[in-house]
Amino acid sequence: MIVAMHETATEEQIAHVIEHLVRMGFSVHRTTGVRQTVLAAVGARVDFDTRNLEVLTGVQEVHRISAPYKLAGRSFRPEGTIIQFSNGLRIGGNEVVVIAGPCSVESREQLFTVAEQITKAGARMLRGGAFKPRTSPYSFQGLGLDALKLLREAGDQFDLLVISEVMEISQIEMMLPYVDVLQVGARNMQNFNLLRELGRVKKPVLLKRGIAATLEELLLSAEYIMAGGNYDVILCERGIRTFETYTRNTLDISAIPIIHKLSHLPMTSDPSHGTGRRDKVAPMARASVAAGADALLIEVHHDPEKALSDGAQSLYPNQLAKLMDELRMIAPAVGRKIA
Ligand code: PEP
Ligand code: MN
Repeated sequence: MIVAMHETATEEQIAHVIEHLVRMGFSVHRTTGVRQTVLAAVGARVDFDTRNLEVLTGVQEVHRISAPYKLAGRSFRPEGTIIQFSNGLRIGGNEVVVIAGPCSVESREQLFTVAEQITKAGARMLRGGAFKPRTSPYSFQGLGLDALKLLREAGDQFDLLVISEVMEISQIEMMLPYVDVLQVGARNMQNFNLLRELGRVKKPVLLKRGIAATLEELLLSAEYIMAGGNYDVILCERGIRTFETYTRNTLDISAIPIIHKLSHLPMTSDPSHGTGRRDKVAPMARASVAAGADALLIEVHHDPEKALSDGAQSLYPNQLAKLMDELRMIAPAVGRKIA
């Protein structure tokens, strides 16, 4: 950390800041310039708040140099994390994985119809909400355990891995026998108790960025899971809230290369929640692969007009098939392949 003192800072104020830094566990190297004094503080501590220094008298500005996360940072595993599944599928390697399925599991017929179609298109993992975080308490809340059973059955039948959202700690145990990946939704990105508990689980977790979360906050949430011992974390950009109203959210494509720079964790893009409109999903999916996404999370429904949630952003199965043909052309242009 670099602390630049004001030109007018007194020796007493400088000594006070040095004392403060030493108390925090830093060793301090002082550079006394003609006009200004600059303090370089070096130490292993990551849990400090630069504002505590900024408010000290005589301090002009404070710059943090090291990231506030350790395990999620790129330097922890410079070569990158690859998450390996029992059927051989890998997320984070050279191959881009397409995860597809309905927003919510609605019925056996719906799920099996969609699962069959996405398999034909080439998707490798089936998504479907069993517990739904709905904005209105009167909207469809999900089929719960019945949905989990259907997901596993469809996954086994079509040789698809299964991902579903966990909304609270009490659901974890119930979900483990049925899912291959636990999804933490945007609304729960900073549910720290849930994240901590998922750190104890021996299954990968897909962590979505909150609607108003910075990338640093996303990485600190991943750190919660990793600090508990679960290093299999997959990050996901799913759109953030901006002033634009045309789309449901603004898909921050730049988050993909930024996360790849800051972290070794695989980065996924969700163009469905990222746009909220079916006709915008394919262009954003193509852009995500071009930008280096390791996986895509795409909502698909065989009859989206009758979907119980997120119909407007769900692709028809033939649209997914067409998109995947396009992705098979785009991926090689950036040195990748579609799994
Ligand atoms: C979902 O994947 O259906 C979902 C609710 O996502 P998000 O948490 O991104 O809104
Ligand atoms: Mn949805």
